[in-house]
Amino acid sequence: MVSRVIPVDSFDLVIFGGTGDLARRKILPGLFRRFIAGQMPADARIIGAARSDMDDAAYRAMVEAAIAEFGGQESKDTKTLQAFLERLHYVAIDATGKGGWTQLAAMMRDSVIRAFYFSVAPSLFADLAQRLHQHKIADRESRIVVEKPFGRDLDSARALNEGLAAHFDERQIYRIDHYLGKETVQNLMAVRFGNVLFEPLWNNHYVDHIQITVAETVGVGGRGSYYDKSGAMRDMVQNHLMQLLCLIAMEPPALFGADAVRDEKLKVIRALQPVEPENIVRGQYEAGEDGPDYATDAENPRSTTESFVAMQVEIANWRWAGVPFYLRTGKRMKARSSEIAVVFQDLGHSIFKGDKARHRNMLSIRLQPNEGMDLQVTIKEPGPGGMRLIDVPLDMTFADALGPDAEAVPDAYERLIMDVIRGDQTLFMRGDEVEAAWAWTDPIIHDWETRGDVPKPYEPGSAGPEEAAILMHRDGRRWRDIKG
Ligand code: NAD
Repeated sequence: MVSRVIPVDSFDLVIFGGTGDLARRKILPGLFRRFIAGQMPADARIIGAARSDMDDAAYRAMVEAAIAEFGGQESKDTKTLQAFLERLHYVAIDATGKGGWTQLAAMMRDSVIRAFYFSVAPSLFADLAQRLHQHKIADRESRIVVEKPFGRDLDSARALNEGLAAHFDERQIYRIDHYLGKETVQNLMAVRFGNVLFEPLWNNHYVDHIQITVAETVGVGGRGSYYDKSGAMRDMVQNHLMQLLCLIAMEPPALFGADAVRDEKLKVIRALQPVEPENIVRGQYEAGEDGPDYATDAENPRSTTESFVAMQVEIANWRWAGVPFYLRTGKRMKARSSEIAVVFQDLGHSIFKGDKARHRNMLSIRLQPNEGMDLQVTIKEPGPGGMRLIDVPLDMTFADALGPDAEAVPDAYERLIMDVIRGDQTLFMRGDEVEAAWAWTDPIIHDWETRGDVPKPYEPGSAGPEEAAILMHRDGRRWRDIKG
């Protein structure tokens, strides 16, 4: 199988915050991989823009070091790397001041797509948008890319949207949620809407429940004081888990296009019911053998911020009425694993006498590790001895299915940046989606704050607090094991 690389039009991509952690870790190594794949047109340029004073040569040296640290094997090819580095330029700029803007304006070319990646704190978004406009650096075809966190509540998200909308149309704004760039997430749509098999079963007549898990093994050390102002609900549920929930639950869009898909996702968020306190468990990790407790990591001994949350949510529409969706996410858990599991209902009647086991079909969609899907089906155990039934997975791990080409599958950032250049917003969040997600999240957080809710402690390396298991046990269900 040969992966196809579709060339994009030429571009100038300006990365504000081009010396920062995100740029060095993800954006620039990702662009390098697209360069290797042959997707970057011959005269496309990348312009780093940040506060530090440096010239092109110093910036190239910085990017070379970043690619050596965060790039893969491909960074060893020095000739290709040098060719890529020649595409890089740098301008020292102050988002809130005057410095650098005239110089940046002089660098822009008329004939190519202009894209501006705001890889800086959200408090600078409005300043950047305003200066791009004031210095006539952005035109009506320009695109801007913004990163999470997109607000910390509905009011701040609205303010960010307004700051951008003052100078850019919605069709120019690309809000990144890198979960949407993952191969499996897009495959989820392909599987749902490209096969006749699943869609007829994708409703409350056949689905018992759905689980979404995003588990990390790392703690918050290093960015603890930042994380402490946010917590798992703001940092993960409001954006990543909500996006996954939307894709799994949305109605079929009329076509795979930006507004059609985003309209359907928005309807899901609007159909989400308020969550009662008994349907949410918050947790905070304790000290373990290999690290301190959350409060120490967060440098806040009295912190009541959650590093884990599990919840049962309901979508009030015809398709999903009565089907619980269980979401959980946490730090310092037993494995790094992100998965969606669609658990189908039991057979109404079994013809296999003596078979007492509860066989259930289940489609599990793994985002990491080993991106892929498997469908659990019940078959006869091979060999003699009568009709014994076993459950086996029909496994589709992409790395196996694609063979050596799996390496060439672009990672989420690479794909999303190329979508920006192509002008395809399908995998980006629209402003109204983000606001609707905050409108659902805000009352939950407000309730914790007014009640002074204290998270339950959990052991590092576990599946979260005991209460999270009980959340499912009380309904006669179980979480899937978290496997790395
Ligand atoms: P960082 O602190 O490492 O880098 C910030 C960058 O912004 C630097 O290049 C700095 O020079 C530049 N900058 C700061 N103030 C400026 C100003 N006034 N004018 C011009 N440039 C200025 O931050 P980061 O980790 O790279 O994160 C950038 C954004 O991306 C943040 O909003 C962050 O929340 C978000 N984000 C980061 C990650 C990650 O993995 N690092 C992941 C998701 C989202």
